[in-house]
Amino acid sequence: MIKEILFASQNNHKVEEISLLLPDGYSLLGLRDINWTMEIPEPFETYEENAKAKAYFVFDRTGLNCFADDSGLEIDALDGRPGVFSARYGGLERDSNINMQKVLSELENEPNRSARFHSVIAYIDEEKEMHVFEGKVEGTIAPAPAGHGGFGYDPIFIPLGFDQTFGQLPESLKNKISHRALAMEKFISFLEMNKSV
Ligand code: IMP
Repeated sequence: MIKEILFASQNNHKVEEISLLLPDGYSLLGLRDINWTMEIPEPFETYEENAKAKAYFVFDRTGLNCFADDSGLEIDALDGRPGVFSARYGGLERDSNINMQKVLSELENEPNRSARFHSVIAYIDEEKEMHVFEGKVEGTIAPAPAGHGGFGYDPIFIPLGFDQTFGQLPESLKNKISHRALAMEKFISFLEMNKSV
C-alpha cells in the first residue's frame, strides 16, 4: 500500500528534493496538493522549534499528519550565522544572490571557511506526537559562486571531500550526502519501523 505523507513546506526546491528522496511505497503530498495558501510562520531561533511549529501549524489547520523541515547554513568564522536566519540573511526579499554576496563579503580575507548545512525535520503523527530527525553536511565556503544547480547557498558550498560546489555537483550526489538527505534517511527508517504510526 502506498503511504501518502504531507510535506509542510512552501519552498518548491525543498519539495522537489524531498520527493526524490522518498523510496518506493511513499507518495509525497505538497501544500499545493491540498490548496494551502496561508503563510507558515517560523518565529523561533532554533531549527527544532521552527520545524515543530511549522508541522504543528499545518496539522492544526488540516488534521493531516505531516512533516516540516527547518534548515540553514552555519559558518564557523561568523559564529554560526546565517543559521536559522539563512533564508532572509540579506533582507526580507529572501534573495539567494543577495544572501550569498553578504556571506562572501563578511568572509573577505577570512582564512577559516569551514561551514555546514544543518536540517531538522519534525514529523507529527496521527497520535499528535512529534518526532525529530537531524542531518548535517560539513564543508567550506567557496571564494565565489559556482554552478547553477540546487538552490539557496548551494553555489558557494563545497561539501567535504569534493572540490566543487553543490551548485556544480550532480543533484543525485547532493541527494545522497546533504543535510536534508541524512535527516530524511532517519525519518524514513522511523516510518519503516513504525508502519502503523
Ligand atoms: P527555511 O528552512 O525554509 O527557513 O530556509 C532555509 C534556508 O536555508 C533556505 O532558504 C536556504 O537559504 C538555506 N538552505 C537550506 N537548505 C539548503 C540547501 O540544501 N542548499 C542551499 N541552501 C539551503
